[in-house]
Amino acid sequence: MASNRTLAIIKPDAIASGKAGLIIAHLQKEGFAVRAARLVRLSKGEAGAFYAVHEGRPFYPELVTFMMSGPCMPLALERADAVGTLRTVIGATDPAEAAPGTVRKLYAESKGRNAIHASDSDENATREIGFFFTEGELAGLWG
Ligand code: UDP
Ligand code: MG
Repeated sequence: MASNRTLAIIKPDAIASGKAGLIIAHLQKEGFAVRAARLVRLSKGEAGAFYAVHEGRPFYPELVTFMMSGPCMPLALERADAVGTLRTVIGATDPAEAAPGTVRKLYAESKGRNAIHASDSDENATREIGFFFTEGELAGLWG
């Protein structure tokens, strides 16, 4: 059964342009509950580790530099079929190819500066939620 949790990150471009509130409202309208949130400034080591799966790809250095360029906001999100639904709601990586009404079509600047990250599998959702939030913290918030 698909997990009910996923991780989103409102990326530095969207925080800088003041779109965080609109994006959170968009996600809530799509049925996601925000279970944890934090405003963080990633170090080079943290940004590199979070995106380690892309190490060696041509866009990796630029991606790491972008993700540490300003604050970003990781969100632990919950709803049924969280991973698949969030990928649909955010749209394609390149906003030029994203479907109308998706977060990236509405708020992204470019393929690199594309407003939001979303986990791409249940396994990665668990790893990525754990990157920013402890299980105890998530339980403590709602227990
Ligand atoms: N990215 C980029 N150029 C590319 C592919 C990816 O700048 O050609 C950046 C972009 O910010 C993207 C991130 O690297 O969101 C991670 O890439 P991935 O293929 O995982 O896309 P996503 O899962 O975010 O849609
Ligand atoms: Mg990805």
